[in-house]
Amino acid sequence: MSKADYVRSQAGLGHNGKHTCHADGCTKPIAPAYLMCPAHWRMVPAEIQRRIWLLYRPGQEVDKRPTGQYITAMKDAIAAVAKAEGEQRQKSLPFGAR
Ligand SMILES: [Zn+2]
Repeated sequence: MSKADYVRSQAGLGHNGKHTCHADGCTKPIAPAYLMCPAHWRMVPAEIQRRIWLLYRPGQEVDKRPTGQYITAMKDAIAAVAKAEGEQRQKSLPFGAR
């Protein structure tokens, strides 16, 4: 089974509300094989998505032993989402301020 098939096979599992999106402040329950909910994953730059995908090892969410490189990529992804969300907030600030 390819890695993509594995993650797809896991996608319908584990929606027990215990594993949630890793983005700051997001509590959306997702399958353990996923790092973030689709809305936040889309905000992760493609380069970081690629790194996470490469470093992801099928089963790491079960034995809780991701590599240090994966954790670094994960932190980069979380920081990128926080930054993107911060910029969105800033854009919405000048409402009515002319
Ligand atoms: Zn999320």
